[in-house]
Amino acid sequence: MNYKKLAFLLLTAWCLVVLASLGWNINHTQAEHQHFLKDTARLVFDHIALVREWNANHGGVYVPVSESTPPNRYLEVENREIVVDDRLTLTMVNPAYMTRQVAELATRSNGIQLHITSLDPIRPENSPSELEREALLFFESGESEEFSRLLAKKSGYRFFYMAPLMTTRACLRCHEKQGYVEGDLRGGISVTIPDVHPAPIQGIVIGHSLIGAIGFIAIITLSQRLSASYERVHRQSIIDALTGIPNRRHFIDRLIAEYRRSSRNSTPLTLMICDIDFFKRYNDSLGHLEGDDCIVRVAKTINASLQRGGDLCARFGGEEFIVILPNTDLAGGEKIARRIQQEIAALAITHPDSPIGEFITLSFGLAADVDEYPSQDYLIKRADDALYRSKQSGRNRIECDPKSRPQPSGETVAPTRKTAAASEQPV
Ligand code: GH3
Ligand code: MG
Ligand code: MG
Repeated sequence: MNYKKLAFLLLTAWCLVVLASLGWNINHTQAEHQHFLKDTARLVFDHIALVREWNANHGGVYVPVSESTPPNRYLEVENREIVVDDRLTLTMVNPAYMTRQVAELATRSNGIQLHITSLDPIRPENSPSELEREALLFFESGESEEFSRLLAKKSGYRFFYMAPLMTTRACLRCHEKQGYVEGDLRGGISVTIPDVHPAPIQGIVIGHSLIGAIGFIAIITLSQRLSASYERVHRQSIIDALTGIPNRRHFIDRLIAEYRRSSRNSTPLTLMICDIDFFKRYNDSLGHLEGDDCIVRVAKTINASLQRGGDLCARFGGEEFIVILPNTDLAGGEKIARRIQQEIAALAITHPDSPIGEFITLSFGLAADVDEYPSQDYLIKRADDALYRSKQSGRNRIECDPKSRPQPSGETVAPTRKTAAASEQPV
């Protein structure tokens, strides 16, 4: 399994989950925040609408004329002023005039701005702002009875809310001459709440960043540990514990792959099996631990004698080693075998009970030319047979499988196969 790929997929999935959650939470919080602001503005609007209704139901109310409440020059009704005596004159305050006065009070007391407006105002000051016009046109289209927007300004945020005013029977007293009939959209009142705090999303962003980072670190740490233990287990499964070189299982896997490659590309492949001579006697003389040490030294020496990256030396059995030599013909294999033989001789590991010499020696069996053999198992068998002959012929020898040798003239040999003959010389 490719753990880097798995970790990458997990990290991508984790990032997507965190980002999706962040997006949903920000969206949800902003929607909740706008609901809250809308409810507040609607409450203000409803209060004004109630008081206006009360005023309209009375056909307007009379209040004393004062500096702050001069007669409404836009109001064209009978008895707009009633002179009570020299000191008191009453003037009619209709719902629109009352709304303006309440709006001024509201702005002074809590900053909330109320504006009564219409697309066709009697009083020019009641003309709509751009946003109010947009809202009024929106109401006219009949899509909704509310319009709201959170406005970001340099000074901060403001919340704008507007709802329509519909013409009632009581309104006709002042507005009939403009052509309105009962039920018509006559205008609206906007409610602007200043200095609104934006939706509280910092906590969500910080929380998600923390959770995202913790998950990120956890996934990387876990995948690194998983990868390390996988590597350890994998290594244990393919490496021989005593010698540290590949084991038989790994050798089989590599041989299958190399055999296929060799068949496909018609390139030579040589297999070498070597076995320590009279090793039982060595063990018996010096003990098992010394024997182990000797096996390790021999393994390292064989391994170090291989010069090509594709060559592979594995521990095939107790004191038996097998070497795959891709792109190498039998002659090349013999050369390597001789080199190993010399290197082992140079080690000069004393064998106290060897009938053939003073030091540890190896016997070799080689086989090559895969075209000759139906399978990689048969190639091993041929190399093993050659090793057997080497043992039979006195040990410390290099024997080659006769079938691996080039055929007498007349036989065609693939051009990529260099099957030069080599002498079987005991060293
Ligand atoms: P030959 O020349 O015919 O190969 O004789 P040999 O004594 O080497 O062959 P044999 O197969 O009779 O003995 C192999 C010995 O290798 C037997 C066993 O005690 C020893 N051996 C196998 N594996 C290990 C190991 O891991 N450590 C040690 N110390 N000895 C081992
Ligand atoms: Mg042996
Ligand atoms: Mg053996």
